[in-house]
Parts: sequence; C-alpha cells; structure tokens
Amino acid sequence: MTYAQQLKIVQTIPVQEGETLVVTCPFCYGPKKLAVSKSGGKILWYCYRASCEAKGAYSGRRNQKAVRDYLSNTAPTKNKPVKPIPSITTSVENHPPAMEYLHSVNSVEAYKNKLINIRYAPAEDRVLFYGNNGAVGRSLRRFGPKWLSYGELPDGIHVGTGDIAVLVEDTPSACAVSRLDGLVGVALLGTTITSGIKKTLNKFTKLYLVLDKDASSKAISEVMKIDRSIRVRLTGSDLKSLSTNQILSVINKG
Ligand SMILES: [Zn+2]
Repeated sequence: MTYAQQLKIVQTIPVQEGETLVVTCPFCYGPKKLAVSKSGGKILWYCYRASCEAKGAYSGRRNQKAVRDYLSNTAPTKNKPVKPIPSITTSVENHPPAMEYLHSVNSVEAYKNKLINIRYAPAEDRVLFYGNNGAVGRSLRRFGPKWLSYGELPDGIHVGTGDIAVLVEDTPSACAVSRLDGLVGVALLGTTITSGIKKTLNKFTKLYLVLDKDASSKAISEVMKIDRSIRVRLTGSDLKSLSTNQILSVINKG
C-alpha cells in the first residue's frame, strides 16, 4: 500500500490534537497495533507488528485547533500535572481574614449572590474561587506564591449572568464585573484567550477584553486574530478595585 493510500486511511482515525491513540491496525488488522498521534497538526503513525509496513508522518496544513493553540500561545496540553482541589475547606464566613480579603477586591456581592462558589482552605491558608472542574486559590499569607490553581480550568472562570462578557485577567476582577447587571466576568487566569475559553464565548452577544494599559500592541493584535469582534479596553486601574460606575466607564470608553 502506498504512503498516500495509508494516509487516506489514517486520516479517518479520530485522533485529537495532542493525543495518541493505539488502535486495531487497518492494514494488518492486528488489534492494538497501530499508534496514531497528532501534534501541532502533524500526524504520525506506526504499526508495532514487525511484518506490517504501516508507518508514516504527515505534516499537512495545521488544523483549526492547532492554529488557535498556536495563536493563543498554548502548546497542546498533554501531561500537565493537575493539582487536586483541597479537600478540606470551610465557609469563608468562618474565617474573617477571608471575608476581609473578599471585601478588598469587591468580590463579596458575587459570593453572596451565589454567582460563584468561594471557600476557604485552612491548610493552604487560601481563598478558593471555583470554576467548572477546578479552582484558583489566593494566598492570605504574605509570602509564597499569591495564586495557585487546582484541578482543570480550560474555560477560565465565568462569574455572573447576562449576554455581555467582559474578559479579565483574574477571578476577583471577574467577580467585581459581575456586580453589573447583564455582565459576565470571564477570568482568563492569565493574559491569553485559550482555545478552551474561546469556545465558551459563542453564547455572548458582545465581548470586551480589559487589558492593562501597558499591554503590548503584539498582545492586542494576537487577540484580534482570535476574534475580531472583541472590543479591547485598556485601563491603568485594576478592575477589582473599582466601583461599578468606574467599571462601566472603562467598558464604555473607546
Ligand atoms: Zn499493522
């Protein structure tokens, strides 16, 4: 069988970007003999049976997801270690410093209105903000890493209800945004719109991205490549320290 014929068959195997599948070889029919992997849009295949000639590599055009990952600077995540969410937690209301912290970052309303689950992890001394399958924890200690993430948060953390999304870097800022009716704060948990987050944005009618005023023009053009409909707003102030009126004026300017 020629390389081109093999490729045609291998391309029908539903292997996802960043994944390796071991399947029944479609050429020698050996069960669990053919390994197929896809990375950066490149397909590799190889049959473990010595008598089988199935083997090849194809670096055709990058598929859409590989392109998006590339644009958003995220390598396909494969074996990234996942830190489990702390199992022992208590209500933030049992721990005054946790409530003080939430007050200081305008996140109490989001918590009280149940727009986000927030708890305190005593062993870690961290305030946990929960997303779908994970959480981010803000340390209340003066030393050590300020933020840690637990579990998996490919969608970022969405706070609030409405048709308009405001993309922000961190979760307290997303909580602060959610105080405004109709606005959903989406914490990117970084400065890039990953492909996972991008997928969650279809349901919104308007998208804003709030970046630090020092954001590079490169960062902005990367965003525009990902979605031209995103309205970028630059601000010198931290959203989580602003009143709702101040947040509105950041979003409505420009
Ligand atoms: Zn084979």
